[in-house]
Formats: sequence, C-alpha cells, structure tokens
Amino acid sequence: MELPLGQESVARTRKIVHVDMDAFYASVEQRDSPSYRGKPLVVGGSPSQRGVVAAASYEARKFGIHSAMPSVTAFVFDVAAGIAKCPGLIFVRPRFDVYREISTSIHAIFKRYTDLVEGVALDEAYLDVTENRQNIPYASTIARHIKTAIFQETQLTATAGASINKFLAKMASGQNKPNGLTVILPEDAIAFVEQLPIEKFHGIGEVPAAKMHSLGIHTGADLKERSLTELTHHFGKAGQYYYKIARAEDDRPVEANRVRKSIGAETSFAQDLMPLAMCFSSTFSILAYLNNRNYSVAALLGGISPIIYSYDTPLDQQAS
Ligand SMILES: [Mg+2]
Repeated sequence: MELPLGQESVARTRKIVHVDMDAFYASVEQRDSPSYRGKPLVVGGSPSQRGVVAAASYEARKFGIHSAMPSVTAFVFDVAAGIAKCPGLIFVRPRFDVYREISTSIHAIFKRYTDLVEGVALDEAYLDVTENRQNIPYASTIARHIKTAIFQETQLTATAGASINKFLAKMASGQNKPNGLTVILPEDAIAFVEQLPIEKFHGIGEVPAAKMHSLGIHTGADLKERSLTELTHHFGKAGQYYYKIARAEDDRPVEANRVRKSIGAETSFAQDLMPLAMCFSSTFSILAYLNNRNYSVAALLGGISPIIYSYDTPLDQQAS
C-alpha cells in the first residue's frame, strides 16, 4: 500500500529548490545596454551563417520567437515577401564569458546555503537544502533569499520552485515566470501532477507526448492509470521514470557538479613553430581557449603537461 506523500516519514522528505534565471542571456544584454530594455531582442548566431537563437527577451517571445529557433526564422516571417516576424528585433551576439562570470556569482550565492548544487546549464540549477548551512527549515524561505540576493548582486531576476524532489521543484519553477516563486507542498503534489497536461511534464519530450496522446494519455491522472509493464513496453526504460513522476515521485539525487581532474585541448598550426619559445607561447593560446571554456587557468597552471607532436609536412604539399 502506498502512503500519501504528506504522510511519509519526515526524515525521507527532501527539500529541493530549482532556480532558473529569466531569459538569461537576453536579460544580461538588456541589463548591460539600457537602450535594449523593453525591446524585442535575441541573442544568438548570425542569421546569415545558419545560427540559432540562444535566448529571446520576453518582448521577442510575444512574437513567437524562442530559443533553438533558426536565427533567420526569428527575423523573417515571409522570406519571399521580406516581411519581418518582429519589427525592430535587435540581434546581439552572445558574450559567453560574461554569462559564465554571472553564473559563477550565482553559484557562489547557492553555496551560502548548501554544497549540494547541481548546475544544469549556466542559468539553471538544483539545490538540495534538506540540510543547509543556515538551518533554515523551509525550502521556500531559502528560495526567496536566493532570489533577493541574485537580484541585489546581479540586477537580474530568477524564478524559483521549491518542493520535495527534483521533478516537482522543476515543475514548480515553470509555473510562474518571470520573477516567480512557486512551492509545491507534499500534500498538494499528487493533485498537481494529476491535473497536469502530459506535454507539460518535464522529461516527457514531444515524441513520447504525441505517442501518449495516441494511447489516450492526456493528463497525469491518465498516466497514473497505466501499469509499469505497459509504460516500459511502450517507452522502454523511460517508462519507469514516467511511472514514478505520475505518482509525484522522483528519487534522483541532486548531484553536486564534480571538479574535473584533467581536461585537454589541442590545436595544430598552419606554420611550423620554431624556436621552442614559440611553442610555449602557443601553449598559452590553448590555455586562453580553455579559460574561455570556464576553466580557471590559474588552477590549471600547477599541472600542465604539454605534449607537442611534431611532424614534417611533405615537401610536395608545402605552399612554396
Ligand atoms: Mg532560464
């Protein structure tokens, strides 16, 4: 027999917060350039080079522009007629170094409460605050403090969700964007999941959602009626996850992002590197590249092992 979630032992109930920055890259650009504020804006790759939209401001979203859309689609509604999808749309190239720096500051805020922080992307993280540094009893209090600190320290807004597991915390943060805070209490979890349309479930993608519709599954309540056997028959291993989330259960732990022990990058050069000093200066250009990928060069300097492969280009292939 299953106990309703609210009656589960307190010791087993986790407190999870999910934090999601609002239209992150686009909001950073609007923060840093006052002339962009209140205007439709996309951050992304160039429309002329088959780039995609990495982020769209809320003003742009009103025109149906969203992330992962080809940049050219965001710009032009009707290619032949040359009609703009969104008049006055501002296009900005991403500044990942800036976004990474802000992400680091946000993680520093999270760490004031717990080390159990799992970054999902630069703008999104799960925190397990069951045990927290400040002995705050409610996850919702921590979520509110975090939102306030993020705004004070970065002038950016975040939306947070708090609940008893990762799935519910993620669903909670999706309820009230931007700048929202939603709590799903244990006693409300089952009812929340039951009324949820299947395509709104985190972890049920477009393809399985369409398949569920064809099987007559439209809501969480419908999903809960199906047996584990039936769900694994139709959806393989994912069926297990679906079976659990239909019951508002998710035992996946928040996994603190591990510190990497080693990383590598390599490059080859158009011209021969001579003398040896040039090899070393070139090593630093590789380090700069790694630094761009958010690894601290200072931390790496202690243990660099440069490996220099050398080969001679055959004479007949040399330029002259
Ligand atoms: Mg976000």
